[in-house]
Amino acid sequence: MNKSKNIENLVSYLEEANEKYRNGTPIISDKIFDSLEDILKEANPSNEYFNKISDDNLFGCEEKLTIKMGSQTKALSIDGLNVLYRRIPQDVCFLHASEKIDGASIELTYISGNLVKILTRGNGLIGVNVTKTLSSVPSILKNLRKELNIVIRGEIYMPKSSLVSINEELELKNKSPFKNTRNGTVGIMKTEENQYLAKYLAFKAFDYVFLGEDTLSNISLECKFDTLRNYGFDTPKDELVRIIDIPFYFDKVKKIRANLDYDIDGIVFSVNDSILLKSLGSMDDGKCLKGQMALKFEASTEISTIKDIEWSFEGGQYICPIATIDPVDIEGASISRVSLKSPQWLKDNKVGIGTTVSIQRSGGVIPCISEIISNRVEDIKFPNNCSYCGDSIKEDGARIYCPNEDCPAKEASRITHFFNVLNIKGVGFKTTLQYVYGGIHLSDFLTEDYNEVDNMMVNNENISVIIWKKIRKQLENISSLSLPEALSSLNITSSGGTTTWKEIIGEGFNTIDKIRNMSIEEISECGKRSNKKIGLIRANKIFSCLHSKRMEKLLDKVYVLLKEKSDEKIINPSITKISLITPIVDRHIVMTGEARWGRKQLSELLENNGNTVQSSLSKQTNLLICDSRDSTSSKTKKAKSLGIEIKTYDEVFNYKIMEEN
Ligand SMILES: [Zn+2]
Repeated sequence: MNKSKNIENLVSYLEEANEKYRNGTPIISDKIFDSLEDILKEANPSNEYFNKISDDNLFGCEEKLTIKMGSQTKALSIDGLNVLYRRIPQDVCFLHASEKIDGASIELTYISGNLVKILTRGNGLIGVNVTKTLSSVPSILKNLRKELNIVIRGEIYMPKSSLVSINEELELKNKSPFKNTRNGTVGIMKTEENQYLAKYLAFKAFDYVFLGEDTLSNISLECKFDTLRNYGFDTPKDELVRIIDIPFYFDKVKKIRANLDYDIDGIVFSVNDSILLKSLGSMDDGKCLKGQMALKFEASTEISTIKDIEWSFEGGQYICPIATIDPVDIEGASISRVSLKSPQWLKDNKVGIGTTVSIQRSGGVIPCISEIISNRVEDIKFPNNCSYCGDSIKEDGARIYCPNEDCPAKEASRITHFFNVLNIKGVGFKTTLQYVYGGIHLSDFLTEDYNEVDNMMVNNENISVIIWKKIRKQLENISSLSLPEALSSLNITSSGGTTTWKEIIGEGFNTIDKIRNMSIEEISECGKRSNKKIGLIRANKIFSCLHSKRMEKLLDKVYVLLKEKSDEKIINPSITKISLITPIVDRHIVMTGEARWGRKQLSELLENNGNTVQSSLSKQTNLLICDSRDSTSSKTKKAKSLGIEIKTYDEVFNYKIMEEN
């Protein structure tokens, strides 16, 4: 009696937590959620909870899935993988590793090469038909080769950069923005009025089954991923990793994941050999394969109390609330300040001095509040005037800002941003604010001759000459300034940084002059090729910022600065070093189509690694590198007909880009 009451409570708690999670306001951490589900599974494995279709708010008909969509057992630490190692034979020393994309699983059905149906994961057996909503997702291919009757499984997700554009669009329509990419993905599938945003979503495929065949075919997972890419799908990044290297590999991914344009919440490790994978069997009613396990990135959390709320002008455009908290130690760092989302968020969540919160540090390095544990004790005072220039603070939707373009805090944050983009270390807002008070502006740094600014620095007793000397040395050491870097260092409104500028430059607007002469329409069309069109709203903001008096002056200086640097850097923006993504040895390789970097350098790199680069296909050729799998070039066609392995330049070469250093 008591036990069943407990189970009932647990189920309703899990359902509530799930609902809140899907609305972007999680009440418990993923880790606790997973372990509560485990407890329920143990106590009552046949509970109805596990059969409920989790997408019940989606509209569309329920249909039976072709691939039983299981999930993986989860490990929350490297040690957790020992469970997997014990299950697999001792002579297996490599595992297939692939990114676990944080989106929603879907299944695509193709008959005679035509996309006929898209279903959600549902409860793993029955999903919801979302063909209408998702068929506008650009990376969901509409057609495959005619003879293919196939079901593709993969993950639908929202790129991080799309979240920014979508939220700008939503805010202009006075709608509440999506809290995160996952929330956005579900929000678009779930709400009819949001369906038009589906074009911003993206898809990565990771499994397939030919219709009428067994669910596990006999090729390795590595080959499966290759085949999917050959069909033209994007896939999560995958590679074979030696078991002894897994801790290093996991650490490496953990570090770079903040730089990816999509969220990943872990790595799936799996036996690569499908026959072995099948023979190891499954558990949980066939839902989890024993030879597969997901290692999740663990988010560390600590509880603390807000002592004070400061208003920071350091971010540039908006004034942001920052909580000072009783210091907590998370992942080896002592954290005493946490950025809060917005003034509106403070009001909505009744957060203020005295609120007990749970602090999380995950993925990247920026700590945030993951849970509000108790309400505030004191009301928050919002600032009325800018503490740097005294102007009246204005509101813009959920945010507040100082309207004065000449505000010293704004100029200081522009200089800080400039130094950040150029990777100049050891300088923060407090320092740059002193520069502004000393009459030094961003434009003074856009030069190759620092003598003038040097005089201003040295003759000001409020400025630390030692810090300036260090900055100057770093500035002088910058050997190349690329166009996208230069532009993003100017913090042009709504331009979203280097990525956007690369899109614009990629469309042929590859000089300052060309960019200045762009019309709003031309700006808005950029990014089309990667399905991230800038759009008119952002284009308008970028245009008016580009043509503001202040920016005109800065661009004049950048123009001079770039003229003095070599032209080549403008043609190949910011690419500095090329390497092979995975080792390629002893192959006969042909390259075709346009590469992002000179083919001569690429050939040299391949030959230095022990390969032979050929100018045309021969009997020996066993790898073709091309610009796109959809290429209709004669070499690509011929390679396909001969069954020669095909990879794209981007799959083979790693271009180390300056700003990612
Ligand atoms: Zn101000």
